[in-house]
Amino acid sequence: MTQAPARPQSGSTFESLNPATGEVVGTHPVQTEEEVRAAVARARQEATWWAGLSFGERKAHLNAWKTLMTQRLPELADLVSREMGKPASDAMLEAGLAVDHIAWAAGNAKKVLGRHKVSSGLLMVNQSATVAFKPLGVVGVIGPWNYPVFTPMGSIAYALAAGNAVVFKPSEYTPGVGGWLVQTFQEAVGRPVLQLITGLGETGSFLCRAGVDKLAFTGSTATGKKVMAACAETLTPVVIEAGGKDSVIVDADADIDAAADAALWGACANAGQTCIGVERVYVHEKVYDEFVSSITAKAAGLEAVEGGKIGPITMPSQVGVIRSHVQDAIDRGGRAVLGGPEAVGDRFVQPTILVDVPEDSLAVQEETFGPTLTIAKVASMDEAVEKTNATRYGLGNTVFSKANGMAIAERVRSGMSAVNGVITFAGIPSLPFGGVGDSGFGRIHGPEGLKEFTYAKAIARQKFKPMINLTSFERTEKADKQLAQVLGLLHGRGKK
Ligand code: NDP
Repeated sequence: MTQAPARPQSGSTFESLNPATGEVVGTHPVQTEEEVRAAVARARQEATWWAGLSFGERKAHLNAWKTLMTQRLPELADLVSREMGKPASDAMLEAGLAVDHIAWAAGNAKKVLGRHKVSSGLLMVNQSATVAFKPLGVVGVIGPWNYPVFTPMGSIAYALAAGNAVVFKPSEYTPGVGGWLVQTFQEAVGRPVLQLITGLGETGSFLCRAGVDKLAFTGSTATGKKVMAACAETLTPVVIEAGGKDSVIVDADADIDAAADAALWGACANAGQTCIGVERVYVHEKVYDEFVSSITAKAAGLEAVEGGKIGPITMPSQVGVIRSHVQDAIDRGGRAVLGGPEAVGDRFVQPTILVDVPEDSLAVQEETFGPTLTIAKVASMDEAVEKTNATRYGLGNTVFSKANGMAIAERVRSGMSAVNGVITFAGIPSLPFGGVGDSGFGRIHGPEGLKEFTYAKAIARQKFKPMINLTSFERTEKADKQLAQVLGLLHGRGKK
């Protein structure tokens, strides 16, 4: 079995390994608290220059980075594939989507964040009211390994486009990918507005305490709580993008072939190591048998193997988690219609589809993060929604229905839903991305993702002298009466 990198002390180095073969991909420093603070200090200097640029100038710099990345996508995809194990074509898809997000964030920052007028209201009609969204300063980004380009980019690109400098701590499993992103930014922009720090979890905790103005974290809910607690010490705000237990809901009128195809890909792509991956399916009883037949038939030729469509499990310790969830499901009366406990190998886990699994079992309630899926029969869409909502997570979801897709999706407690497609929302840069409950809070992507890394700056500017001067000790009794009359007209005439 692949060994996790040794746990070195701060000040030493660590290796990233190819999870398919155990080969060393790269060696990186474990950065100390002082080094992390120094990176934040350097970023703060750069933040002044970067924030002083116009939206157009920042857009030009970010577009130069995007172009360079696009030209070197095969090199990036190869590195992602070697460092975290996914097939290079999947890595290309991931990196391509990330590039699209950079373009959207750069192209829309001015429209979303630039100063714009809002109504000043009748009482303050003599004022011009405007709002702009200003950069916070330095944003810390702690990224995961499962999508080492796409996921941190949801914070990095949006924070940069909003005018912040960024200090990025990639996962210890994918430090080379993090380094590649920072290096290409430096090449394209010529200034270290995006800084890299490497190390293990402890280095991440240093970043939380290093005086950044916001910390964007993606990873497990448990670590998210530690990050939030560390950031609370200095009142540093956080964005937490944590785990999920996403479902696919299949209605009686759904296109079963398409639903089965989507559920299988959503569950097994990236070896199931996707925060918005499909882990559960709820199928209307009228089409349950057809769905199970369809998905097992489609999965028949699918194999997790080096060079195949499904790669290895990146984090060696995760194999034990996957095995325990599958075994628990079987012990509690579940059946494997594909795979099963014996499908969980040392490095590779074969696609596993479980049925008749109790709703309170690990495979239904906890994030498995492997190419596994539970399928349950439901009598109605009410039951499907109720069961979907009965976990502590609320990240994404998918609904397959010809007539009622939107209505069902509206009732699912999750940050995002896809109707008659799977994970599609992540590839639409204008849609916000984030969870509720144990899936975290705050949003990346879209206008909300840009605003997440800013503070609102409101300005009221007097256009002409007011009819009644309310904000003066010289306010007269007559003015008070006039105010009472105006208030009566404005707000006093509704039903009690
Ligand atoms: P973690 O949540 O532990 O790690 C995520 C990131 O946080 C990594 O960069 C990690 O650094 C860093 N980190 C770890 N400890 C701390 C700390 N105390 N303070 C600050 N940063 C810290 O996830 P794992 O990689 O260990 O994966 C565990 C499980 O989390 C998975 O099995 C999966 O269920 C879930 N997960 C979910 C993801 C999602 O997208 N929702 C992504 C990744 C994991 P380092 O890697 O160097 O330890």
